[in-house]
Amino acid sequence: MSAKTFYLETFGCQMNAHDSEKVVGTLEQQGYRQVDSEEAADLLLYNTCSIRDKAEQKVFHRLNDYKKLAREGKRFGVIGCVAQQEGEKIFERAPYVSLVAGSASYRRLPELLARMEAGESRVTGLDDRETEETFETEFTARKNPYRAYITIIEGCDKFCAYCVVPYTRGKERSRGSESVLEEARRIAEMGYTEIQLLGQNVNSYRDPTGKKSFAELLAAVGEVSGIRRVRFTTSHPRDFTRDIVEAIDAVPALCDHVHLPVQSGSTRVLRRMAREYSREWYMERIAWIKAARRQISISTDMIVGFPGETPEDFEETMTLLDAVQYDAVFGFKYSARPNTPALVMIDSIAEQEKAKRLQILQDRQREIQRANYERHVGDILEVMVEGNNSAREQIVGRSSQNKPVNFTWKHPIAPAPGSYQQVRITRAFPNSLAGEAV
Ligand code: SF4
Repeated sequence: MSAKTFYLETFGCQMNAHDSEKVVGTLEQQGYRQVDSEEAADLLLYNTCSIRDKAEQKVFHRLNDYKKLAREGKRFGVIGCVAQQEGEKIFERAPYVSLVAGSASYRRLPELLARMEAGESRVTGLDDRETEETFETEFTARKNPYRAYITIIEGCDKFCAYCVVPYTRGKERSRGSESVLEEARRIAEMGYTEIQLLGQNVNSYRDPTGKKSFAELLAAVGEVSGIRRVRFTTSHPRDFTRDIVEAIDAVPALCDHVHLPVQSGSTRVLRRMAREYSREWYMERIAWIKAARRQISISTDMIVGFPGETPEDFEETMTLLDAVQYDAVFGFKYSARPNTPALVMIDSIAEQEKAKRLQILQDRQREIQRANYERHVGDILEVMVEGNNSAREQIVGRSSQNKPVNFTWKHPIAPAPGSYQQVRITRAFPNSLAGEAV
């Protein structure tokens, strides 16, 4: 058994979670063994997120909490978005860190690790953001027992005014469709039935081999033998085309759910955010989704209190909420991020006002969701099991529309994660459904 052990903690989005699966696989290939506590590890790695200040601070708290372990000879590595954003400044702030690498450098991890093992005390992988390559590896250690992730596009070329991603993850680069399909087939052979295609802007996908559009790739993954559910996240409204909705209508394995971040209901604010679409453009795409034969659930992200957002702009966000009737809204107060264009705009809206707007938005959305979820009472939904809640003696899972469903189960042996159950919905809450297996 290898003497080298590592501990990895992941912050942030699904892209990061999946990157971590690839990092784990790559480290295991290099002779490392993963352990589940900082104390048991030779190497402590943090895969970081810098989308919000709170997320960024977490890693520095962690480094501080465990710096005493550096005296025992343990090594520390900071990888991901904070690593790319802060770069060598991390060595100044936490001198016991010996590896700082952004996500575009993960392909070089074996080399970076070897240099660290050879005694280099400050190893960096920070200058690869202009790369044409994606981080593909056959060593992915899939840790999720029921859902397999496939990154189909990395980076972002959109440069929204508030967002760090184009600076931390570099320019957009897509994987060839054949390579994606090969991985989907391998995943199906491993026994997975649900695949989630990932990308910061997943539908900005451009097949470098020119063979498939995003919608065609979606359909092809949905037709891989053994695959019952395909999800994709996150879509950008600017690149959202009608054929995506047509693909969902045509291919049963594509889930009835689209996450389409709008960020604001005001065209004036969208322009200031450099989102590259107007309210009308967005609503046209919503109309396509609503006109589908299948009932497609829609969720979104919203930012309130962006610099210059007037009460009238905010009111437009509220009327958009009413018009779309989302099934889920992830709402955030604007906070300035380093190196972003919005930094030069005056962040004139007081924290208190931002908090008030967010509360108004969340209260209204809760009412909308309560009514939306209520409509499912009496339905029989197919639920994929994700685990169980032993405290409440319930099985937990998700519908095709991505709604959490908790249900009771009469047999002594609980259904396995990844299996499917028909569930009669008996109760609805604003964020989940409850029922019984039929
Ligand atoms: S589209 Fe905008 S919000 Fe999304 S990752 Fe790119 S810059 Fe960030």
